Amino acid sequence: MSTPFDYAPAPESRAIVDLSPSYGLFIDGEFVDGHGTPFKTISPSTEEVLAEVVEADEADVDAAVKAARRAFRSWSRMSGAERAKYLFRIARIIQERAREIAVLESLDNGKPIKESRDVDIPTAAAHFFYHAGWADKLEYAGLAPDVRPLGVVGQVIPWNFPLLMLSWKIAPALATGNTVVLKPAETTPLTALLFAQICQQADLPPGVVNIVTGAGGTGQAIVEHPDVDKIAFTGSTDVGKQIARTIAGTRKRVTLELGGKAANIVFEDAAIDQAIEGIVNGIFFNQGHVCCAGSRLLVQESIADDVIRRLKRRLGTLRVGDPLDKNTDIGAINSAAQLAKIKELSEVGEAEGATRWSPPCELPERGFWFAPTVFTDVSQTQRIAREEIFGPVLSVLTFRTPQEAVAKANNTPYGLSAGVWTEKGSRILWMADQLRAGVVWANTFNRFDPTSPFGGYKESGYGREGGRHGLEAYVTTGGTR
Ligand code: NDP
Repeated sequence: MSTPFDYAPAPESRAIVDLSPSYGLFIDGEFVDGHGTPFKTISPSTEEVLAEVVEADEADVDAAVKAARRAFRSWSRMSGAERAKYLFRIARIIQERAREIAVLESLDNGKPIKESRDVDIPTAAAHFFYHAGWADKLEYAGLAPDVRPLGVVGQVIPWNFPLLMLSWKIAPALATGNTVVLKPAETTPLTALLFAQICQQADLPPGVVNIVTGAGGTGQAIVEHPDVDKIAFTGSTDVGKQIARTIAGTRKRVTLELGGKAANIVFEDAAIDQAIEGIVNGIFFNQGHVCCAGSRLLVQESIADDVIRRLKRRLGTLRVGDPLDKNTDIGAINSAAQLAKIKELSEVGEAEGATRWSPPCELPERGFWFAPTVFTDVSQTQRIAREEIFGPVLSVLTFRTPQEAVAKANNTPYGLSAGVWTEKGSRILWMADQLRAGVVWANTFNRFDPTSPFGGYKESGYGREGGRHGLEAYVTTGGTR
């Protein structure tokens, strides 16, 4: 039913994106055909085929690693100030082409344009700017006086923040003098291929960045390649464990940024309306496809009914639909496989006795969609309270004391992030000290900044990305490699 406050459609034009029907691999500064079988990448919001890309095989990965090795000789010897110029140039081109990249990201990933436009792409540019600043100051980073790059870095990234994850990986690697072979996720290769064009536009020396598209097998070929010095991976805990097993006993270094099941903890003295916005942002931002999503709401029992009532009212105002519409809050689920996983775990939640609720909302007929969902009456043993759903699904639990909140928040195999909502500064500090999570947000959630390190405890992985700490993952103080 329409109301006087309905939004008129406000679609962003996709004319700015110049899609090719097919793309090759980016190796040694050029697009090449590759040997593997082509596969299609689709728009998850319409199932329209956007382009065909190559599934790189072992020979392609080997060519990319060889190109990266050749480029390493001169790139690693270039002065930091010179390397910085390339990073600055890439950052500026990302800014100049921001609208084009944002539209392409929303097309290929399904995320709302207001998120790709206002979060993903500006933060991606910020990572290049920030690391450009470090390139000539590494000796002052407090790591060691004689830091050296590791060599060729293999990077495998997921589909939830395609260009942003690429930037998290490539910017520090390049700033520290490494060269890169990167594989984007199978369902979201297009902004990585656009980034390859940006490398050409920035006159980046051939081989410094190589992009090989493909599925799990391509990622595995990178991980197993004997001439790769370091692996940087973001994705599921299962694949992270496989990678750790594969490289055990080799000289390869690794950083793993894996899953999460973060607690977003709301105390009775919190500013409730502000907390509601934080809860919504915590789990419904990017359709909940966020490793650090606040997927477990822990709310103090005395205010639980009020918080749930206000939360439901707020969820009723969210607009689900066309990712390219500037008013859309929640876009499409990234793939049919991810949708199936979200549906399955939600059904398990009901079967295990939790109460399921979604606001009334019409979902488009084509594409992959899931309404924002809240589970109440959740207990800690239920799968929806333990497993990463990676979708717009919130599990609500309650607590009475700060000690109970900490115990419940830490009762998870993961340890990536947490949120605390309270008026009391002393409680924030106490909670941050007790919570086993790499990032603890206070009175906010899902804030990302290149200056701030990010990473997990336990099954959320190891190593940090971003900030001064993130540089450490890309340098050695040992002998030359
Ligand atoms: P994966 O961990 O499978 O994918 C992450 C990346 O690794 C992709 O590029 C993937 O390629 C690649 N990959 C897959 N298998 C291997 C392998 N054996 N060796 C090397 N690389 C490999 O995540 P999924 O996309 O399958 O998502 C599954 C679940 O993982 C989600 O439901 C979610 O719970 C979690 N996840 C967590 C993320 C996080 O940020 N922590 C991000 C994404 C998912 P390809 O794209 O072809 O599969």
